[in-house]
Amino acid sequence: MTNNDSPPPEDGEQLKSSPGNSPGGTNPIDQQQTIPGQAAVNRGSPAFYGQTTMPQRAIARSEAVDTIVTSTPIIAVRNLTKTYILGQTRVPAIQAITLAIYQGEFVAIMGPSGSGKSSFMNLIGCLDRPTQGEYWLAGKLVSQLSNDELADTRNRLIGFVFQSFNLLSRASALRNITLPMIYAGIPSDERELRGRRILQLVGLGDRIHHRPSQLSGGQQQRVAIARALVNGPALLLADEPTGNLDSRTSLEIMAILQALNEQGLTIILVTHESDIAQYAKRQVTFRDGHVVRDEQALTPRSAKEDWTKMVKKASTDEKV
Ligand code: ADP
Ligand code: MG
Repeated sequence: MTNNDSPPPEDGEQLKSSPGNSPGGTNPIDQQQTIPGQAAVNRGSPAFYGQTTMPQRAIARSEAVDTIVTSTPIIAVRNLTKTYILGQTRVPAIQAITLAIYQGEFVAIMGPSGSGKSSFMNLIGCLDRPTQGEYWLAGKLVSQLSNDELADTRNRLIGFVFQSFNLLSRASALRNITLPMIYAGIPSDERELRGRRILQLVGLGDRIHHRPSQLSGGQQQRVAIARALVNGPALLLADEPTGNLDSRTSLEIMAILQALNEQGLTIILVTHESDIAQYAKRQVTFRDGHVVRDEQALTPRSAKEDWTKMVKKASTDEKV
């Protein structure tokens, strides 16, 4: 984590939009109810998983009727390979990765710089096509989708968050997050309503007319998270979302992601920082385009608790 982006004081309401128990402040995470728009995605229905030719796993056995309940991965890749060609040079960025990710998981993709994390995210986010291998997204073989179907599936299912926020600099927070709803064909008053609700959800209800330059780094990243949620995705892909943020702000972002995951959103987060990865429920480590480790965390740390401890310690240190 870097320390070059400390959030500026927020008009005497320093803790207002942060996780934890700030005296007199409100906590956006405690205020969260449901992810707006998400009800539109029926994540459990067979229809959602259209084709079910992917290998399924048994997740429970019902004694009463003696049937096995199965679950289809939301993401499944088999021998996924990406080789970039640069003149005479071949760069093997992803080398025959096989991996499945299920609904409700919170996965951290870890590994050193150049290990293939972003290349992998671009493939599973349908922003790039693999050189070889299969990719099943929500039960559909991605290579068989037309460009239109692919764009439609991506827009419907996936929200993206990047390290550099990627906000429109001349548009307000509200405008930044209502734009994707225009493309999704949502009527104007519904856009406005949903936009305000989601900004409130991420603790920015009082910043809706601010432009990115008038917001701290952490606030900009919250706008970006809000934008990723507006069309009710089933899956959030975040590539180094805390890479430009200081430690405390990073915890705020991780607390928001943990709260969203608790509401059922599947999250895949790329990070090269192990202290960020420990807030995920599963850690997958890449090296040279291979998966070298895949571990479930029995009890992931709570970003909200760690944030509270950090703030308390800072105020104690100040008094000493
Ligand atoms: P990470 O996100 O883990 O840092 P990347 O997926 O960005 O890793 O990169 C993996 C490898 O692929 C690196 O060697 C990188 O230089 C190379 N690479 C990434 N993108 C491209 C590209 N568009 N063209 C050529 N090589 C690339
Ligand atoms: Mg990267």
